Amino acid sequence: MGAVAKYFSDVYRALATAFVGLGVTGRNAFTKPTTLEYPDQRWTLPDRYRGILHNRIEDCIGCLACARACPVDCIHIEISKRDKEEYGLTSDGTKITQWIPRFDIDMALCMVCGLCTEVCPTCCLTMTKEYELAVTDKRRMYLEFATERDKEMVRKKMAEKEAAAAAPPATQE
Ligand code: SF4
Ligand code: SF4
Repeated sequence: MGAVAKYFSDVYRALATAFVGLGVTGRNAFTKPTTLEYPDQRWTLPDRYRGILHNRIEDCIGCLACARACPVDCIHIEISKRDKEEYGLTSDGTKITQWIPRFDIDMALCMVCGLCTEVCPTCCLTMTKEYELAVTDKRRMYLEFATERDKEMVRKKMAEKEAAAAAPPATQE
């Protein structure tokens, strides 16, 4: 092909390509947009969407079922038996017999399988629709749910136990 013929061939191809592109733009200018202006606009997520975990800790009975079900061991729970007069009730009436000084979930390890929520007897552990997991510090993905009251109660009981163990045995008269 001569230089002049190649020149006109290139011009023809460039124009044809431009018209194809303009055709696509024109078609989409009159159809519903498929993108959203995130973060001002957001998708409506399905009911069973699995996002970041949340524990409604006041309804947690410390049964450890969730931690046992977790395939990657990213739920860390510590429990301490309550005395009878300290028993409480969850919102569905289940008896609470444990203090829970630690209930942590490492979302950086969690694979969002949802198994822990399925075994929770009081349904207090749920997967929220919160999906924005990007953080600049991985420690922010470590979620802690234990209440100060439970931590304090366990600290107090430990201190009492230690004091009792350290006390000299009572002398018999
Ligand atoms: S969603 Fe799955 S991986 Fe994440 S904490 Fe629950 S059981 Fe573990
Ligand atoms: S399964 Fe539910 S009630 Fe039991 S420890 Fe986990 S979150 Fe608490």
